[in-house]
Amino acid sequence: MKLLSAVLLAAVGVLSGCDRPTAPLVEFPVRVTPWTAPVQYRFWWTLTEACAGRQGDMGAVRWFLWPESGPILLEGKRYDGYWWQDGSRILLSQEFTDDGQVVRHEMLHQLLQVEGHPAAYFDGQCAGIVSGTGVPSAASADPALVTRARDVGPEVLSISLSTLPARPRASANDGWFVLDVQATNPTPDPIRVRLDPFFDSYMGLGFLNDDPTRTGTFDVVKEEWLFFAPGQRRHRYFDLRERAPVTLTVRGTISRAVSKSFTVVVDP
Ligand SMILES: [Zn+2]
Repeated sequence: MKLLSAVLLAAVGVLSGCDRPTAPLVEFPVRVTPWTAPVQYRFWWTLTEACAGRQGDMGAVRWFLWPESGPILLEGKRYDGYWWQDGSRILLSQEFTDDGQVVRHEMLHQLLQVEGHPAAYFDGQCAGIVSGTGVPSAASADPALVTRARDVGPEVLSISLSTLPARPRASANDGWFVLDVQATNPTPDPIRVRLDPFFDSYMGLGFLNDDPTRTGTFDVVKEEWLFFAPGQRRHRYFDLRERAPVTLTVRGTISRAVSKSFTVVVDP
């Protein structure tokens, strides 16, 4: 199951929303299904507002589903979601309606009102919260720091976990909450962290579940070396759903490095 989830995450990375910074506008397709956003989208909207530092009215968004299973096909390209500024329309592939990274990516377009992917948001302050565009981790860092970065293994990082909300409830957000896995560079130096390979990619932030009947997963990234400025913290949100009260014991991971255990109490 862990492998399957990771492969699925890799697929998200490949399709990665709506990359078209210079492409001409794509026509809104005729054959789509109007749709009502599920309960957890309000919660995901607030998470996107928080990372973007922007407020917006989610009620202005009109939602649509691609009528067939599989990716959205627009002018010969495949997408998992697509946003049109005109009419505040978001079209989602049926497979990705419960994928917070993809849904929040489209929400971020709506909050920013931009069709491109400004790296300061998609790969900066909302990195790990929305699906990004795959720019290298050092791309927006101070070049002076990048050149003097020390090469280290993932065990150098300090890994921590928290949930959003702090006390999840099975009866709130239709049981959805976020496990936020964080890796911090605790050293005063810039570092490049070598990640372990996974097929043709590398193992980023993830989590393990102490209960073998529940799965963990991890983010799959394209680069072998992940840059951290001194003190820099990277986040990865994992969207979890528990429809009944439960206590979970999880550990954060980045490649082979594993954190101490963390208890998640989901209240009724
Ligand atoms: Zn996009």
